[in-house]
Amino acid sequence: MANATNCADVAELFGSNVFNDRLMHERLPKDTYRSLKKTIETGAPLSLETANVVANAMKDWALERGATHYTHWFQPLTSITAEKHDSFISPTNDGGIIMEFSGKQLAQGEPDASSFPSGGLRATFEARGYTAWDCTSPAFLKTDGSGNVTLCIPTVFCSYHGEALDKKTPLLRSMKAVSTQAMRVIKALGNTTSKTVLSTVGPEQEYFLIDEEYYKGRPDLIMCGRTLFGAPPPKGQELEDQYFGSIKDRVSAFMKDLDTELWKMGVSAKTKHNEVAPAQFELAPVFATTNIATDHNQLVMETMQKVAIRHGLVCLLHEKPYAGINGSGKHNNWSLGTDDGINLLEPGSTPHENSQFLAVTAAVIKAVDTHADILRATTASSANDHRLGANEAPPAIISIFLGDTLSDIFFKIARGEKVTAGGKTFVTIGVDTLPQLPKDNTDRNRTSPFAFTGNKFEFRMVGSSASIAGPNVALNTIAAEAFDELATRLEKAKDVSGEIAKYIKEVMDKHGRVIFNGNNYSEEWVTEAAKRGLPNVRNAVDALASYVTPKAEKLFEKYSVLSKTELHSRYEIYTEQYAKHINIEAQTAVFMSRRLYIPAVLSFIAELQESIASAKTVVAEETRTAAAALIDAAYAKTKKLEANALAAKGLSSAVDQAKAYRDTVVSMLVELRADIDALERLVPQGIWPVPYYSDMLFDL
Ligand code: ADP
Ligand code: MG
Repeated sequence: MANATNCADVAELFGSNVFNDRLMHERLPKDTYRSLKKTIETGAPLSLETANVVANAMKDWALERGATHYTHWFQPLTSITAEKHDSFISPTNDGGIIMEFSGKQLAQGEPDASSFPSGGLRATFEARGYTAWDCTSPAFLKTDGSGNVTLCIPTVFCSYHGEALDKKTPLLRSMKAVSTQAMRVIKALGNTTSKTVLSTVGPEQEYFLIDEEYYKGRPDLIMCGRTLFGAPPPKGQELEDQYFGSIKDRVSAFMKDLDTELWKMGVSAKTKHNEVAPAQFELAPVFATTNIATDHNQLVMETMQKVAIRHGLVCLLHEKPYAGINGSGKHNNWSLGTDDGINLLEPGSTPHENSQFLAVTAAVIKAVDTHADILRATTASSANDHRLGANEAPPAIISIFLGDTLSDIFFKIARGEKVTAGGKTFVTIGVDTLPQLPKDNTDRNRTSPFAFTGNKFEFRMVGSSASIAGPNVALNTIAAEAFDELATRLEKAKDVSGEIAKYIKEVMDKHGRVIFNGNNYSEEWVTEAAKRGLPNVRNAVDALASYVTPKAEKLFEKYSVLSKTELHSRYEIYTEQYAKHINIEAQTAVFMSRRLYIPAVLSFIAELQESIASAKTVVAEETRTAAAALIDAAYAKTKKLEANALAAKGLSSAVDQAKAYRDTVVSMLVELRADIDALERLVPQGIWPVPYYSDMLFDL
């Protein structure tokens, strides 16, 4: 299909590959539509009869649009999605075929899924894993570059015994938990109209682009997603000329294609811009309910990579592709809204009188402080370790930015002081012809890991390549717990306003320490946070341990989001993934050192030797001595790295392995890199075996 070129095309294009509500309404018999809607909205069980009718309508629509196959699309505990394609064909007695798709095939699948990580939940000899249709997220068609069209059915993935083997199942459970508890709160506050509370998310996705030719020359990018070597280019991001800069034509063409592909699948790609680092960009969609936003974010990541290839580019989603310049994150904008359009985190123009906003926000403050360790755990990965705490990303310390106006209100209530309306204030621009800009209740704070931004919280620690499911499972569940306690108090209270004031005072006295409006990047904050007793967990291995504390087990079990066994299996898998990723980096570094760098430097030294034989020059002598010393040092470090990676791999438990990689291999990678990068500065361009940072970052 051609690209959308004008707004009418866009309106027609948007969602054209989605079996959305409008289509269901059009194509399903009335009673089928009604019972499906009931399932979607209330979780009522779906009859096989209904499923059969829906499946048939879905198939007809998919065939009309060129599909030959369908797949149960799911999200195993890797950070990517999985799909196994089945064609619609069904042989007939006369040697022909018909195209068939039954309700059973729609509702349930049984992929031979023995190779997905299960963290001990499922031994390979009993590999049964089931996929089940998640009808709350619409089915859609995926088209690939060669014209294949596949009907994708969003599904959950669980074991024979019903344990979650995926990221989606706990997300749906957590949405239910937070809805139930938040409903109790708003009912206690007098709401009689809302039927349900939905958690919503708008994930801003950062990414890098690189020319395919340079990418192919970098085994480290191919194997690890990040450069393990590379001297800093003469110019980095210091001129701040990339952020919001004019978008280059080549990148713009990619973005246009990307938007088109996403719009077809109903992904509401909205904002695109250059990010801070050279060759770094961002895409933000319009927010959606957390399950749909999670599906869509997976599609965004996948489509970025596919579309980039069509433009001779490669999209890098790694959290830190390049040392010395900003890494990529995913700002997870999270909020709660009712089915009838009330945003529970909307302060309105007089937040101090908005008791619902005050109570809900206080509960979130309590939840975040109580379970800061769990939130941190949901962002932990070897890749994100390069980001959290570095000077461009939020630190590993969880704190909340509320802004001065709101902090003032909360602290005043806590002190029992009277809070008066600030009145609407306006920004003075000093130019009369410009419109008056009303001042937001919160200013921006780009350094906070958990910032209130008007009517939502922006959780900024999430890594760019990660699924957003985990962080939102945690946000929903910790909020559910806080709402549960708050609702119980409000339901019993004779004086609801008095109870809210009392609650806020208690929350602020005990959890006010988590509020910090200053610069999170500063050294003083690290000291101050330690004084306040806020955890600062600097590496993924330690952070992940917070998944399996008694506190976490109790929380997730109480709200039926993850059982103790499910939590432990997750911990096991994520820890194992850490170890595996660092091992791949070590193997890649050794490989590059032995096969690329050492031979290149040796041939350079030989050239210098010849040059010295024909004419003694200071430059040749000095360069040879320096290069020889560096390459011998690099060789020694390569051997040490190799030996330590092997030793770590030999340990018996995933946790011991991960710790060994963290404590030995991670720093050895840095040490080896230092020598190789120093050599990069000595060795001539024609001999250096891999593309430079200056090429990869600036030649787009
Ligand atoms: P900024 O970069 O200034 O933080 P963006 O516009 O890039 O803002 O992204 C903000 C994101 O927050 C968007 O995806 C937007 O849809 C989302 N958002 C807005 N309102 C809500 C809400 N109520 N719940 C969840 N996300 C929201
Ligand atoms: Mg943004």
